[in-house]
This record gives sequence, structure tokens and C-alpha cells, in this order.
Amino acid sequence: MTDMPSIRALPDLIIRQIAAGEVIERPASAMKELLENALDSGAQQIDIYLEQAGKRLLQVRDDGHGIAAEELPLAIAKHATSKLANNDLSDINSYGFRGEALASIAAVAKLHIQSRRSGDDSAHEISTENGAIGAVRPARGELGTTITVRDLFHATPARLKFLRSDNAEMAAILENLRHIALCAPAVRFRLYDGAKLRVQFEAVGGLHDKSDDLLSAMMPRLAEIFDTEFVANAYTITQERPPYYLSGLISPAAMHRGRVDRQFLAVNGRIIRDRTLMGVIRAAYGDLMPKGRYPQFALFIVCDPAWLDVNVHPAKTEVCFRDPAVLRSMLINAIRANLDTRAMLTAPTIASTFSHSAPNNSPSRANSAQLRASGVMQQPGFAQDWQPLARKEVPQAGVPDSGVEAQSAIDYPLGAAKAHILGNYIVAENADGMVLIDQHAAHERIVYEKLKADYHDSAKTAVQPLLVPEVLRISADNLPKLEDHQNLLNELGFSFEVFGHDAVVLRAVPALLAESNKVDLLEDILESISEGTEEQGLKDRIYAILSRTACHSSVRAGRCLKVEEMNALLRQIEVTPNGGHCNHGRPTQIFLSLADVKKLFGRKS
Ligand code: ADP
Ligand code: MG
Repeated sequence: MTDMPSIRALPDLIIRQIAAGEVIERPASAMKELLENALDSGAQQIDIYLEQAGKRLLQVRDDGHGIAAEELPLAIAKHATSKLANNDLSDINSYGFRGEALASIAAVAKLHIQSRRSGDDSAHEISTENGAIGAVRPARGELGTTITVRDLFHATPARLKFLRSDNAEMAAILENLRHIALCAPAVRFRLYDGAKLRVQFEAVGGLHDKSDDLLSAMMPRLAEIFDTEFVANAYTITQERPPYYLSGLISPAAMHRGRVDRQFLAVNGRIIRDRTLMGVIRAAYGDLMPKGRYPQFALFIVCDPAWLDVNVHPAKTEVCFRDPAVLRSMLINAIRANLDTRAMLTAPTIASTFSHSAPNNSPSRANSAQLRASGVMQQPGFAQDWQPLARKEVPQAGVPDSGVEAQSAIDYPLGAAKAHILGNYIVAENADGMVLIDQHAAHERIVYEKLKADYHDSAKTAVQPLLVPEVLRISADNLPKLEDHQNLLNELGFSFEVFGHDAVVLRAVPALLAESNKVDLLEDILESISEGTEEQGLKDRIYAILSRTACHSSVRAGRCLKVEEMNALLRQIEVTPNGGHCNHGRPTQIFLSLADVKKLFGRKS
């Protein structure tokens, strides 16, 4: 028989080291806890000192209210906190409430605390080694608290092995600092790497005045955390759906990124990682953005703490909402409202590449003029600066009418067509300057939106029966996919029957596609079915294929348009939802004001 191990209670230090693993994962998470403590203490200035990316030394110094000498041992004790005033987990108004951060750090590192409250004659200090708490002693020190963590994880070699390179740990630290800095704009933060000042976030003034627009006051900090371009171009969102209040900045659809590194979502001042909400925000951009690309945003949700449970994760990076559906729909509506109404009215300007004083009258871009004056956008390149294109309402007779006279066409947002160049581009003039339109991209968007609109009104879906039904070969693997989605395809205007085990008889197609190559079309559709069968995504992909195919096979493709045709197309884009972007998220139109043009030529206006 083998020896049966007997059950025994673990020593206290091991218990604490196990628990610490959940809270303190790496230097960045230790720093986050220390910063949150400093903020909870009402600090206005917080300095961080690091050696070896926090592995050897992590020190956070604040000017907050300090800790009483006799409470220093308690600060380190497990489950001891000054914060949960009424022992009520549904009323949390501080970052901390679990009382375990310092205890956890003490279990895995050498911890030293020095603190002085206002009114105290001197500071006091306490330290721990191997989890044992030393005596409280008087010390020299300023008002506030300095917490020093040395040799993180030397007490737990297993964890030490999982630390990454200094560069990687530093990146995680900077990321966490950005999170906290976004939520505490009134506080100045400085981070020193060795002797070198690495990051400095100046305090944003004027925040205590209620009348101040918090968001616009925060612009400089947002500009540092994102960049000036984001702040200059982002849309401001503010919306209330009790119990939630939402505010923040979102990027226009065209400012997408391949990574999700610029997505910040805060709830009551806490940055959270919530996959569902992040997914909802991405979904709100829908097909305005290419697949696999992500928007940038800084969104702040505020609500009565009673509507939240923040106690779902030891590191407090997740929360549960009592009414997530309201929040989701508020997010979608707020984002869509901005994208839908503005996409058509805006276009990137090239001229800002050369100048940084482009006129700026959109209320959503407060402070962008100052930011732009910082000169960051001086380098040549395609600066995606977005200008309000339509300063006038779209005249309501905006139905395509090829007889629009050039004279009046100039008053439309996209103006009067002047020329068709390079086989695909329309040059137009409006009251404020010139517009360049990508004909293919615009046409695809028009067809796409029409297909979508028609689909909701199935009586409208124009179907073209084929005079001679076509027999198309389909591989045996693919046939079931077509059968599975027969209803959807029928609704879109396709009519077919399966024939044998590797063919279909095609009897009708959407009228828009009557001219196109049916084999290629079906193959494209099959391919998009293979990408996933989630209903909405599939529909959107099929719309995209249909509109692309329709545009390529349309009579307009590849030939020069007449002035009336161009004007008709411009009028159609103006009334098409999301007309500012093609189906892949690229802009369909670029606007250069007269002032921009003059600047390009170095003329003073
Ligand atoms: P929690 O923040 O959840 O209360 P911690 O272990 O992080 O737990 O801190 C324990 C206690 O120590 C806090 O409740 C607070 O009273 C005190 N404390 C920690 N850091 C500071 C600080 N920088 N300034 C003032 N008090 C602090
Ligand atoms: Mg804490």
C-alpha cells in the first residue's frame, strides 16, 4: 500500500500566497492596487518609481490623507479596510473594498509603508519580511503615503518564473497607468523608470466646477492616451437611460485599427474588460468597418452603485450589471445615431496635412484646434481629419433626378459634377469647395443599402426570372449549405432547386444581378456561408457580395459617365444611409474646401 497523505490545514503564509495569486498577478497589477489606494485616499499627485519594470522596486508616493500610526498594522492585515463604511457590498464608492491588496503584496514581496496624516507631528513606518509584520516606528516623511514593494514574487518562485521580460512588464504597467489616468483626470501622475521620468499626465484643471464640460476638459489627457488625431476627429457621445449615464468619445468608422488596444470602457471610474459590451460596441459599427478591424473609444458609464456588482473578480476588472439589456441598447443606439447621421456629412481632408488650422465648427470636436496647433499633424501623409461636408440640409427633393441643373446642384452637399476622371472618380464642386467621389465605392454602398432596405420589405425585392433556367454544378460538400439557407436566399430573390447530388437549377435571381456571372456569384455566396452561419453576419456578407457583383456587372462599370449620370449618382449617395463609406469602411468622398485648396498652393486667403 502507498502512504496515504493526511489532511492538514495550510500555514497562514501559504494561504495568503495562494490568495495573493488572484489579486497580484504581475508588477502591473500590484501597481494598479497601489494607485487605487492612493486615489481612494484623495491624492492629487501620485508618483511612481520603478526598477526593472517593478520587479525589483515598485514605489507609489501620494499626497492623500495618510494612515494613522496605530492603523498601519491593520492596513496590511487581511480583510481589513477603511472603505466599506456600512458593510454594504451594494454601495461601493471607492476602488478598494476587499481589504486584501496590501496583505497579498506582503505575502509575496517585501513591503514597506510610510505615512503621515495632516496634523501628525511626524510620519510613521512599518515593514514586512516573509509575511511577518514588523513594529510601527516614527520616521521622517511628508504628508501622504509612500508604499514600497521590493523583490516582488521572490517569496513565490513559481510565480516569479511567469514574469515576462522587463519590456513586456513595462508595457503592462503603462497600460494600467493609462486606464487609471483616464478615470482620474484631476490627478497628476508621474512615472519614473530608474531615474528617468517616463510618463507624465498633468492634472486637468477646472473639473470641480460642475458647469464645466468634463469631457472637453479631459481632451488633453485623452489626446495623450490616444493621440491628437483621435481627439480631433472623434464623435462625442452623451446619453442617459436611467439608471445609466453614458458619455465619451468614439472614432469615426474610418479610423479603425487592427488591434483592440485603444478601447476603454469605464464603469463608475473603473476600467473594465467586458467582452460582451466590447462586442456590442463593435457590432454597432457593423459593416461601416472592414472585417477584423476595431473602433477606438473611451466610454464612461456612470450609475448608482446599487445597479452594479463590482465584486465578481478579485482584481475588480469585471462587473455585473443588473440591467445589461438597457445598457447594451443604449450603447448601440448612441453609437449608431452618431455614425448614421454623420457618415454622410463628413469626409477626410487632405489639406490638414499641410496646415493645422482647418476650420472646425463641429461641437463634437472641442479643443481640436488647440490640439492640432501642437503640430503633431505636420508630417505629410494622409491625415484623416474629418470635416463637416454638408453645412446645408440636403434639399428634400433629393430623389435622383438626372435633370438637376448644374446651377442648383452646387447647393447639394456633394455639389455639381464637373468631370469624370481616371475611369472611376467624379470631381464635383459644391458651395464650399471641391469634392472627389470614388464612383465604385459609392455605387456599391447605394446598392448595398437598397438591398438591405428591400429585404425588409419583401414585396419590393425585384426578382428576375431567367428565361432559360441555368444548371449550375455545385460540389457535393457545398450542396447542403445551399439547402440550409434556401429560405434566406429565396427572400433575397434567388429561386433554385437542388438537382441530383451535385447541381442546382437556378430559375430566378435578384433583378440587380441579372447581368452577372451566376456561377461566380453562387461560389462567392457559398464561401461566405462557410465563414459562419450566424444569421445577421451571413446576411450582411451576402448583401456585400450582391452589391459588389451588381456594381461590377452594371452598365456603368468601366465607362465614363455623363454629367447627368454623375449628378444622379451624387444625389443618390446623399440620401443613402452610411453613404460616406463604402461597404469595406473606406471613405467614398473626399472634401477640400476652397481654403484648403488655397493652402495647398501656399496662397493666403
Ligand atoms: P482596500 O483598498 O480594499 O481597503 P488594501 O489592502 O488595498 O485594501 O488597503 C487596506 C487599507 O489600507 C485601506 O482600506 C486604507 O485604509 C489603507 N491604505 C492603503 N493604502 C493607502 C494610501 N495610499 N493612503 C491612505 N490609506 C491607505
Ligand atoms: Mg486597495
